[in-house]
Amino acid sequence: MHAGCLSGAGAGGFRMIARHFSWSGLRCRLESEILVANSSAICLKHPEIMSVPQNTIAIVYDYDQTLSPIYMQEEAIFPVFGIDPSHFWKRCAELVQKQGYDHELAYMKVLLDCLEIDRPTNARLRELGARLTFYPGLPEMFEDLKNTLITPEHAAHGIRVEHYIVSSGMKELIEGSRLAPYVRKIFGCEFATDEHDRITFPKRAISHTQKTQFLFRINKGMLELDQDVNDHMDPALRPVPFQNMIYVGDGPTDVPCFTVMRRNGGQAIAVYNPEDPTRTSFKKCYQLCTHADRVKNIAPSDFRAGSHLRLLLEEMVLEIGNRIIQRRRDDFEAGTVKAPKH
Ligand SMILES: [Mg+2]
Repeated sequence: MHAGCLSGAGAGGFRMIARHFSWSGLRCRLESEILVANSSAICLKHPEIMSVPQNTIAIVYDYDQTLSPIYMQEEAIFPVFGIDPSHFWKRCAELVQKQGYDHELAYMKVLLDCLEIDRPTNARLRELGARLTFYPGLPEMFEDLKNTLITPEHAAHGIRVEHYIVSSGMKELIEGSRLAPYVRKIFGCEFATDEHDRITFPKRAISHTQKTQFLFRINKGMLELDQDVNDHMDPALRPVPFQNMIYVGDGPTDVPCFTVMRRNGGQAIAVYNPEDPTRTSFKKCYQLCTHADRVKNIAPSDFRAGSHLRLLLEEMVLEIGNRIIQRRRDDFEAGTVKAPKH
């Protein structure tokens, strides 16, 4: 391990901070705050902290209306089990309005009720996920961003792009979709099963406010749900700083996630369906951007090369990648002890 230099010389009563060591590809940061009480007395306030490389760029997507114009239940489940969409959603609305259900628990209950005599297994739900279709450019964009956008210099620094999906829809359907092979982790609502493996009860419901928890899971690298995301973690130990994250969502249900991104220095994009003849989809985004000041960027849900959304995502990824490299250069500079001149 090479010693770094002390920066910010202090005289009596001033604070000096020593940091930025380079060792085996990891940044080893000495966070010790050295209080110089006088010219002869020095005390260490904090111990050394090893930090992680922080070279991952995470793009996090909502699913319904963000990656697909069709609600996943309508596309993958209703036609197979003969469920009438208008009856289904009307029953859900009644549970929410008259009985105070959460939206997600309402749709999970109505689904279980509708499938009473023919409840599928989670494996069957995963099979049905193959029926899901997406906005133009998907899933190809997922692969393109991983493979073609990272420059040789970014690659040399180990910088990579990862995709995550956080949905209030059904995790098993997305797991079985054509998107799944490109996604590091999918978070969504889940069903428990009975002794015959048939779905029987909601096991996990992710509401739009709870979705923010999963941004922190990605930030802290706590992707397994048995890990307590509320545990304190030093920013230097978080594998994906919020500044390395981009959130893509479609409307008011994504506002909590937009807010978390904004407060923590991340990026966010609100997308709309350009083929919605009512313009409702566009108006939601317009409100979020123009009047509510929730997001800076809105774009049509078109993920093909050259589209507005694709240009935004590519520019953000490149900007984050360049910033990671610049920070490393700064760290190196700060950690280099100049040889004495004669
Ligand atoms: Mg949505």
